[in-house]
Amino acid sequence: MAKLETDVKRAIRTIPDYPKRGIPFKDLTTLWRNGRLTRRVTDALLKRWKGVKLDKIVGIEARGFIVGAPLADRLGIGFVPARKVGKLPATKVSVNYELEYGRQGLEMHSDSVSKGDRVLVVDDLLATGGTSKAAATLVERLGGKVVGFAFVTELRSLKGRRKLAGYEVYSIAKYD
Ligand code: AMP
Repeated sequence: MAKLETDVKRAIRTIPDYPKRGIPFKDLTTLWRNGRLTRRVTDALLKRWKGVKLDKIVGIEARGFIVGAPLADRLGIGFVPARKVGKLPATKVSVNYELEYGRQGLEMHSDSVSKGDRVLVVDDLLATGGTSKAAATLVERLGGKVVGFAFVTELRSLKGRRKLAGYEVYSIAKYD
């Protein structure tokens, strides 16, 4: 296992049965409070996507903002939030999807992505892939092209990559 992956896994705290029984919740706040390690995570994401032409990063509320915004800044491109229902004030597009624990909606401002924009979708964690797929649906509905997905962690047993088949998917710390 790469040194970064080992360090990230060591820094992440797992909370059993949160928010529901049977869910091992990966708490990344214990990673983000470590500035040096967080910088190494951003560096790794930057290295993976630096050579790829990108116009926007779409970060998924809320933890995708923490990962996506610094990466957008480092890449010198714009950041667009994909938010839970009812949070965005202007004209928007919406989609509903199944989550590992329940049903959820996701929204983006209609003018946040332009036709032809090349977009990287970012979140803290890939589980079933439902949330990321929903974000891709919104981007594509606005005429953008999803170039790939970037995550800090991935729960492989939930087979999120299957739902994102056909797209580039990158994650740093993989759990079986
Ligand atoms: P999914 O749509 O199933 O891929 O779920 C991914 C989204 O739900 C991300 O925004 C994660 O932050 C959150 N999430 C799902 N499962 C977990 C988990 N076990 N630990 C932490 N976050 C999770």
